Amino acid sequence: MHELSIAESLMSLIVENARKSGARSVIKVSIVVGNLSGIVGDSLKFCFDEAKRSTVAKDAELVVDEVSATAYCVKCETQFAVDQYVFNCPDCGEVVIPSGGQELYLKDMEVE
Ligand SMILES: [Zn+2]
Repeated sequence: MHELSIAESLMSLIVENARKSGARSVIKVSIVVGNLSGIVGDSLKFCFDEAKRSTVAKDAELVVDEVSATAYCVKCETQFAVDQYVFNCPDCGEVVIPSGGQELYLKDMEVE
């Protein structure tokens, strides 16, 4: 399962950060996930809950901040939020290649 390995590497990063800052526990973790990254937020949350067991982040809440890829049609000079790799402009039919949407990173974590 793709999300499991992501949750595990995310957890190593969180544990490492918590150790560096001398935190006793992690309360909340915010991550940014692009809508074209192939990651399912709910599935990642489930795996996160598995991965956090018996770590400093065992009580942490995971907040998934989903961001959309955008596509810009040069003909119409219009920008769209898209959820596909290849996108046709709804106005002129021009094929537009989206940018972004591949994000996956740790945005913020709250510790105590
Ligand atoms: Zn267009």
